[in-house]
Amino acid sequence: MVGVGAEDVVDLVGGRSGAKVDDHIAASIAQDHDRRFRRLARGRGPLDHTRKPVLRAVHDLAGHVASPQLGVLHDGLSPALGLLFDRCGERLGAGQLGARFGDELIGIAPAFSGVQVGLATDEIGVGLGPPGDLRGLLLCRPAPRTHQHTSVLASFPARFSPGRLRGMQEILEAIRAGASSDTIANLKIPDAYRAAFVRRDEAGMFDGVPSEDKDPRKSLHVDEVATPELAPDEAYVAVMASAINFNTVWTSIFEPLPTFGFLDRLGKESTWGARHALDYHVVGSDAAGVVLKVGSAVRTWRPGDRVTVHCNYIDDQDPSAHDDAMLASNQRIWGFESNFGGLADLTVVKANQLMPKPAHLTWEEAACNALCNSTAYRMLVSRHGAGMKQGDVVLVWGASGGLGGYAVQYVLNGGGIPVGVVSSADKADLLHDLGCEHVIDRKAAGYRFWADEHTQDEKEWRRLGRDIRALVGEDPNIVFEHPGRQTMGASVFVCARGGLIVTCAATSGYMIEYDNRHLWMKLKAIKSSHFANYKEAWDANRLVALGKIQPILSAVYPLEEVGEAAYQVHHNLHEGKLGVLCLASAGEGIDDREFREKVGEDRITLFRRHGA
Ligand code: NDP
Repeated sequence: MVGVGAEDVVDLVGGRSGAKVDDHIAASIAQDHDRRFRRLARGRGPLDHTRKPVLRAVHDLAGHVASPQLGVLHDGLSPALGLLFDRCGERLGAGQLGARFGDELIGIAPAFSGVQVGLATDEIGVGLGPPGDLRGLLLCRPAPRTHQHTSVLASFPARFSPGRLRGMQEILEAIRAGASSDTIANLKIPDAYRAAFVRRDEAGMFDGVPSEDKDPRKSLHVDEVATPELAPDEAYVAVMASAINFNTVWTSIFEPLPTFGFLDRLGKESTWGARHALDYHVVGSDAAGVVLKVGSAVRTWRPGDRVTVHCNYIDDQDPSAHDDAMLASNQRIWGFESNFGGLADLTVVKANQLMPKPAHLTWEEAACNALCNSTAYRMLVSRHGAGMKQGDVVLVWGASGGLGGYAVQYVLNGGGIPVGVVSSADKADLLHDLGCEHVIDRKAAGYRFWADEHTQDEKEWRRLGRDIRALVGEDPNIVFEHPGRQTMGASVFVCARGGLIVTCAATSGYMIEYDNRHLWMKLKAIKSSHFANYKEAWDANRLVALGKIQPILSAVYPLEEVGEAAYQVHHNLHEGKLGVLCLASAGEGIDDREFREKVGEDRITLFRRHGA
């Protein structure tokens, strides 16, 4: 007999299904279950263990499970192997797979991308792992009599304990059933929850690795973490869905700094702050969900409220937070500079981060907006930003990305003229569909603003300026800037006399160079901007709720695949926003279908359909 190697699991499961199997999970399944599989398989009759023992064991199980002796088979199993094979729709709800040991439901996992789980009658789910420690689930289509034709359709890792599972399942069922505020208030908050996090002891894991090779799939873990205590001004929110922001990419590649320094600083501020200084950092700065419980000082929200969460995290007893909260001396971004972020089944937020969920959107559509939408609102619409006027020409870098997709909508809504810059013909098409007539494909144009690492090329700035004039006949009054080092010189140059470059980021490098003569001689200004205060976030959220700003969700990942989603954003392989399903299954959460119809399914799902 040979052992099962991690590569076997990857090969057998991933290779057959095209699904990604985490190396770590594969190794763990292989190590822990090789012996058990063999024992199990031995009991099931003659199997050739010299090749592919895992799949053979699954074949074997699948063959029996598909038979009417399902119950008997359960009872006869090695106690170390959790199994189940429920017709999920009946017990667990669409979009979930469960695993059971004996009568006990020991594991549950959400739907995964590409496969609508809700088992068909000819499919089974196989849970891998000892009771209470489910490590993986396989989705199989067995051929009852000839095991050879069993196909593994997909697999994914899972790791849950029965206590947490039951607690979260109860919460989810109550939410789905539209339970009253009192019922939700009486639900027990589980003492642990599933979350995506980076680890302090891994902060050096990418030392010496070039930025582009730092892989969020290696650093982002999904596992249980302890539920923190609730401060009087906070709320527990059951997270139905969240989204990837670039700050999660920064955290996961530990650039420009590991975020544990932020947590330690917060930890020194107060007793409640001390909860955040942990050896793991639960990430995520967007969420949509349901308030489960509020602290004693919370007045305006109650259990059962359906909410979105904005990420401005301030101390409202600090006077500096009371003119513009973004000027607060201890202003932070939740889930980036604080712990217990939104990429999890549960989060702890300040009550003043809550906003009403737009009723016509699904959970994932509602979850993807707050961070980028509010940032774009402040940069363009608010008096703290550009205060854009009707007729302003606005150059939007990354116009089909997270920030840019909202920026273009604000320019159009406000009577401005957007000129969107993107890097492919496909993205240009998407922008046209969004209503942006003037688009520049920077890749096709082949701009080289930097002749070499140290020298910018003014001729290339001029070429961009000419291209903009050729489209709209004039220079941009506003430049919506965030790529940073690569583009700032060009942004300052092409901006109109008296115009404004508003900047909130530096994706391509934060040591900026531009020719100051072009700035002062033509009376241009550069204005910095950072997220949004509560009022700005609230107003931006209201515009989504009114159907005037559309979510730019292009794809959705299960929480277990958060590393892959962050990888996509890190490598600019995405459009708009990538959503992450936490407790929700895809498509849930629409409370006002009539209004959804009025706004228009086509407009709401433009990015999603384009990404499909
Ligand atoms: P996305 O990755 O979704 O979009 C950014 C887009 O910028 C890309 O799609 C790409 O579009 C374009 N881009 C990337 N690199 C370059 C480059 N070298 N030259 C020109 N264009 C480039 O990210 P977000 O829009 O969500 O965020 C953008 C930046 O803003 C990030 O650094 C993020 O951390 C920051 N940010 C800051 C906030 C704040 O409050 N301060 C809030 C939100 C984000 P294409 O290839 O099509 O041109």
